[in-house]
Amino acid sequence: MARRPRSAPVETYATGARLKWDVRWVVKHKGRWHIIVKPFDGEFQQALQLYLKVKALGRHNVTLRCRNSGFPPPKELQPYWVRKKLKEEIQTRRGAKPKYRVRYKDIYRSPMRKLNREGVWWCPYCMELREFVKSYEVPFLHPPVNGINVMPTEDGLYCPMCLVSTRDHNVRKHNPLAERISA
Ligand SMILES: [Zn+2]
Repeated sequence: MARRPRSAPVETYATGARLKWDVRWVVKHKGRWHIIVKPFDGEFQQALQLYLKVKALGRHNVTLRCRNSGFPPPKELQPYWVRKKLKEEIQTRRGAKPKYRVRYKDIYRSPMRKLNREGVWWCPYCMELREFVKSYEVPFLHPPVNGINVMPTEDGLYCPMCLVSTRDHNVRKHNPLAERISA
């Protein structure tokens, strides 16, 4: 599974008072991987404590996830502009020594677009880089929510840990390729 970028410590997101959280991880049971979900309402500190505790136990894919708000990727993964210096030849008389002019061009760079092409997506709720998968490739069994099966069936790509899809507006906002495949 993709790494958490070092500059995105979970603590920095604990600013909104009304944010709701859950802590989730995977356990193997009878040969299959199951998702365990522990929901918290506003109690970020409690959620963080459980997150750190479960992580210390060495469980897999331990995630502190925001249930009701999406977060952007860390700065180094956000789009930026660079100014590039270009040297252009000026048309001169035939046989004359070539002349050059320097021009500057602003170029848009999108680290997430590059990662999207490699199958890696920013999950704005898990706040992690994830390899999104097709509905029938989700490697973990997710527990029903209020008695309703949540395993996806529709086309699209999904976060394997929280099942958010590329149709979600926060996913689309931070993953340039989601815009195109879910159009
Ligand atoms: Zn997710």
